[in-house]
Amino acid sequence: MNLLNLTRSELERLCTENGQPKFRALQLTKWIHKKGVQDFAKMTDIQGAFRDYLGRKLNVHVPKIIQSTKSADGSEKWLFKLESGEVVESVLIPENGRITACVSSQVGCAVDCSFCATGHQGFSRNLSLGEMLGQVWAINYMANVGRVTNVVLMGMGEPLLNYSNLKEFLKYLLLDEAYGLSRRKVTVSTSGIVPFIDRLRVDCPVSLAVSLHAASNELRNKLVPINRKYPLEQLMRACRDYQDSAPRKFITFEVVLLDGVNDSLNDALAISRLIEDYGVNAKFNLIPYNAFGGGTFKKPVAEKIKGFQIKLQESGHVATVRKTRGDDVEGACGQLSGIVNNRISRVGSREKAEIAGLF
Ligand code: SF4
Repeated sequence: MNLLNLTRSELERLCTENGQPKFRALQLTKWIHKKGVQDFAKMTDIQGAFRDYLGRKLNVHVPKIIQSTKSADGSEKWLFKLESGEVVESVLIPENGRITACVSSQVGCAVDCSFCATGHQGFSRNLSLGEMLGQVWAINYMANVGRVTNVVLMGMGEPLLNYSNLKEFLKYLLLDEAYGLSRRKVTVSTSGIVPFIDRLRVDCPVSLAVSLHAASNELRNKLVPINRKYPLEQLMRACRDYQDSAPRKFITFEVVLLDGVNDSLNDALAISRLIEDYGVNAKFNLIPYNAFGGGTFKKPVAEKIKGFQIKLQESGHVATVRKTRGDDVEGACGQLSGIVNNRISRVGSREKAEIAGLF
């Protein structure tokens, strides 16, 4: 059994059921997550007999890194092979003294946003708690760039559709004896799964980013199909409620700019009005579209992107254009899980094993 899959309370139970005090769970957590130790024999303040027991029954298994590709801008894309043979990706982004880990929460994604490489390949399954923690652990202790200072759930998958594992993952990120990150430095990005935005607000209100992309239900239904289930009226209400609990008291709205689809000045004005109508404090993150094989959209020209940004700023909003990090390694937004998983997801299980075996 992989100890990384145990929630905090399951780990405490494991200790107490084996005659250990509850605080033993925190000692174990500290060894594994704060010091990066996988070998129970090296955990010197844990009672010897219990260490032997752990060594016989459990391990600390991190998904195997099968490829690491460094971009010219310093960001790095890591391919992790899971025990199931499937592959997920994380991106490590060093910038201005920060080390941000962009992690995946699912293999593929069922939301199927029309501009997204991950959505294009379909959904396989949720990542386990250990598979999510393993990505941060690996970047922390195997990348040789220092400790992760920020975590964003913007990799493959819709994190709020893997809610129970997400919640436990966040608890470890925030725990001093594990990664000790502040709520401000952990961001969950969602396509707008309204009931789970409401639950996150109560359970663990970290920073929230919402993939907005359009101000009308008509257009958003096409770009983000989950909008048919949770339309803009419900999404905006959930954002307004969330901002009071949010660590930064605002919500980040992401807009992937698609040439001729949602990039006009009128689109910018409509988005600005939508936010104001619902009284939401917003910060906009504009993301020029990254083309991927199979995608039909185009990236707007630089003047249009600038014009869109200025229109939002003139309306009194903070709006930044996201620097495209790592696009030469297919690690940019909307490009994750490109080539390798596309190959895996479209073939049967025998071929799947063969492809996985190539690594
Ligand atoms: S943008 Fe996010 S929610 Fe939409 S399909 Fe891609 S991974 Fe899923």
